[in-house]
Amino acid sequence: MKITKVRAVSHKVRNTMTGWKTSLGGHDTHELIFVRIDTDEKLAGIGIASPGALFIAGDTGVNVLEMVNNRFGPAIVGADPFDIEAIMHKLDQVVRGAERPKAGIDLALYDLCGKAVKAPCNRLFGGVIHPRVRVTRLMGMFEPKVMAERSGELAKRGYSAFKLKVGTTVKEDVERVKRVREAVGPGATITIDFNQACSAKEAIVSIEAMEPYDVALVEQPVKLTDLKGMALVRQEVRPLVMADEAVNSATDALRIIDAGAADVISLKIPKMGGIFKARKAAAVCEAAGVDYLVGTAPGSRLLDAANAHLAASLRNLRLPCEIGEFERMADDPVRGFEVVEGFASAPEKPGLGVEVDLKAIGLAE
Ligand SMILES: [Mg+2]
Repeated sequence: MKITKVRAVSHKVRNTMTGWKTSLGGHDTHELIFVRIDTDEKLAGIGIASPGALFIAGDTGVNVLEMVNNRFGPAIVGADPFDIEAIMHKLDQVVRGAERPKAGIDLALYDLCGKAVKAPCNRLFGGVIHPRVRVTRLMGMFEPKVMAERSGELAKRGYSAFKLKVGTTVKEDVERVKRVREAVGPGATITIDFNQACSAKEAIVSIEAMEPYDVALVEQPVKLTDLKGMALVRQEVRPLVMADEAVNSATDALRIIDAGAADVISLKIPKMGGIFKARKAAAVCEAAGVDYLVGTAPGSRLLDAANAHLAASLRNLRLPCEIGEFERMADDPVRGFEVVEGFASAPEKPGLGVEVDLKAIGLAE
């Protein structure tokens, strides 16, 4: 089987929880880039690339389209889609970085190859070790009362893990955690994500003030380049410290672990360039005895289904994963993946295992 054509198109989804913010900024629409790879055997695979927020990813939809349509596509036409190592190596030779568009190619390849062997794509990288994965739901940085109400509603629907965006003042942030804890009950897992808002000392003060409300995990409290600050926070506070923006590759994971800067690494398909590369970062964590979880970039069931395949395959996964954010998006052209009572499973149909309305996004024949 040979790749004959690679195409990408843009599609916008809307966050129904308007006014969503993190300490870095916010926006109510997300641009998604859907990628279609065709072959000489009439099989096609569909992947997704998200340029992500400009202030995190530093990349626009136009650039992702340019990478897929005019750089990566021509570079891999003629290749066997099962040669994923060779294809990803080739993409790295063509363009440095640009991991998000590379992730779109990676996901389309897994969808395609899974369909070719009539098996869910996780069978191509080891299969399922976790039939059910507990799902963490994210909550934007709203007023404390609003965050508590919305988290409480999710808890009623069976969710038991919550990640709160914080990073304004210590007083407000503590209030956010306090109110949410009251709304979701004592058994729920609470993570806070500063998105780099603090100095190490500010983070330590804030996290200590939250101690009565049992925060399990603290994500990226300091600047992504401040590994010494991360290591200091990790030494001083009880909750686990997770690196997100600081880790985009297996090499970054090694560097963070070497600096003693994190207990947990957030594996994300878009920022790491796909499932294939995310699993290499996971292997570094496993070798070092450091925890990981699957983090999200909100947008579509297609990405969250891929997240579920990845999470289900990770041998050391002990923490809940962020694979339910599709629920707050409108205009998602993808069906066939849902969270049930706060848990998700990898789809069992071939490939990524979901149905994409190709007509709606302009990728039909
Ligand atoms: Mg984060």
